[in-house]
Amino acid sequence: MSEKAFRIGPIRPPSEANSLLIQVTNGCTWNKCRFCQLYRHTKFKAYSADSIRADIDNIAYWAERVRMYARKGTSAFAWDIEGINAELSNMTDADDRQCMYTVANWLIAGGENVFLQDGNSTALSSGRLSDVLLYLRQVFPQIKRITSYGRAENLSRSTAEEFAELKAAGLDRIHSGFETGSDAVLQRINKGVTQEQQIRAGRAIKAGGIELSIYFMPGVGGKDLSETNAEGTAEVINAVNPDFVRVRTAAIKPGTELYQDWQEGKFELCSDDDKVREIRRVIELASGVDTYIVSDHMINLLQNVEGNITADREEMLQRIDDYLDQPEADRRVFQLLRRTLRAYDLNDMKRLSAAELDALRAEVVKENELGWTVRMNGYICRYV
Ligand code: SF4
Repeated sequence: MSEKAFRIGPIRPPSEANSLLIQVTNGCTWNKCRFCQLYRHTKFKAYSADSIRADIDNIAYWAERVRMYARKGTSAFAWDIEGINAELSNMTDADDRQCMYTVANWLIAGGENVFLQDGNSTALSSGRLSDVLLYLRQVFPQIKRITSYGRAENLSRSTAEEFAELKAAGLDRIHSGFETGSDAVLQRINKGVTQEQQIRAGRAIKAGGIELSIYFMPGVGGKDLSETNAEGTAEVINAVNPDFVRVRTAAIKPGTELYQDWQEGKFELCSDDDKVREIRRVIELASGVDTYIVSDHMINLLQNVEGNITADREEMLQRIDDYLDQPEADRRVFQLLRRTLRAYDLNDMKRLSAAELDALRAEVVKENELGWTVRMNGYICRYV
């Protein structure tokens, strides 16, 4: 790596698309979830405070270079984009080019948000993490929000006071892949955490003043644990009142243990409809919370089921019922349209002509003959 380059990890939540990514750890401390192979071949490493500060200094160096192209004004268009592109295309070092490109994108998008990577940044000691947060805010005083991933089991070992210290140092939000709140499902997917630990972690984070964004995976428990998956998750939401629940529909990736289980007949895939019913059940069971449901991944079938789980409950349930009330053949057509990125919501399907719908129904019949499963971006899903 060149002297002025800094590390950039592979993964960030979609909501951090415009954030500066700073890698404070590499990989995942657990690496044993049966549906995940993200960091399977990466040995976990927590970087030293000195090494992270050196990266922040290098980011500051690139920020200075990019700012030379700033024009007077405050809009995203107040940049000499052609000048930045010309400098980037003249750079011979690929690492340097990537670093300058990353920083330029961040500053042009406002330069306000930062995401600390990788799979479990809160595995850094809270002292080391606080040092990093304070230094980051000192070097870039314009930062408005710093967020990071944390593993629930790890988070459950910290107190509200410790989270309050991290908040004071500048950590605003923790994303955590709870996936489910059901102990039976947690065991099946080998998440290495219990519902009780999730609740303890979630309450302490909230009490410490940090926003909490948890992830829910409809369908990850399989057909037999489908209802349990929804009910356990609703229990956690009601006990914690997370700020966000982000829906990540389960789809099984070849190479994972869960895929192996499916191939060996030990794991029955939930259908798209089962997964939609799980989301419905979670919304129905949520009570007295101010959580916002977010559907910010293309893998989710119903992208428009979003809103405050209490204030927008009826509207979200209605959107789900609009889908579930379709005849089975049309639900399959909609699934096919979504999985092939030809529709966003039911209205897109309703705009199709009768002839187009008939052709799609025939396509679905063909898919069904192949075994009622569909591959989407390398994932396995199942129709209706
Ligand atoms: S904790 Fe997250 S990154 Fe680690 S194995 Fe599980 S799902 Fe993958």
